[in-house]
Amino acid sequence: MYEIIRGCFDRHGDKRYGEFVTQRQHALQCATLASQEGASAPLIAAALLHDIGHMVESTLGSRDPADDLMHEASGARFLGQWFPREVTEPVRLHVIAKRFLCGNEASYYDTLSPASRHSLELQGGPMSADAQRQFLTTPFAREAIALRRWDDLAKDTDLELALSLEDFKELLESLMRPEVA
Ligand code: FE
Repeated sequence: MYEIIRGCFDRHGDKRYGEFVTQRQHALQCATLASQEGASAPLIAAALLHDIGHMVESTLGSRDPADDLMHEASGARFLGQWFPREVTEPVRLHVIAKRFLCGNEASYYDTLSPASRHSLELQGGPMSADAQRQFLTTPFAREAIALRRWDDLAKDTDLELALSLEDFKELLESLMRPEVA
């Protein structure tokens, strides 16, 4: 498992994430923020790997923009080979969580970059109050919302990274489902 994930980061980690940081920096910053806030081990793993769908071969090089919008689904499916729902569900829901936050907090919407507002529209726009209530009944919705906030903050060009992917190896291995470990 770890070797395969490291392979994804080796091949695609240096690609840009948005305007300012690489995929690797983004992933490590996101996991660091989760860990600083005392998140559970599965949620730290989810934060680290939430964009792995961008690094998985099946969605790479596709010309279909819908594929890119589905990176949360391909990522969750990929991680589901080894990890339980505590890891995969926050990953799968982290894009929908943006729609929740935009509907729930006007101030959150105001922080979005133009690119992020554009993708929000493609994803269906801010959630209505009804849709928000519905979303909160989904298992792992709150974890996905927490992940989304770290995701948004994990774009800091000046942040020195104290941790590498290797530092999360043990944590990832400890989370593998017993039947595949
Ligand atoms: Fe992200």
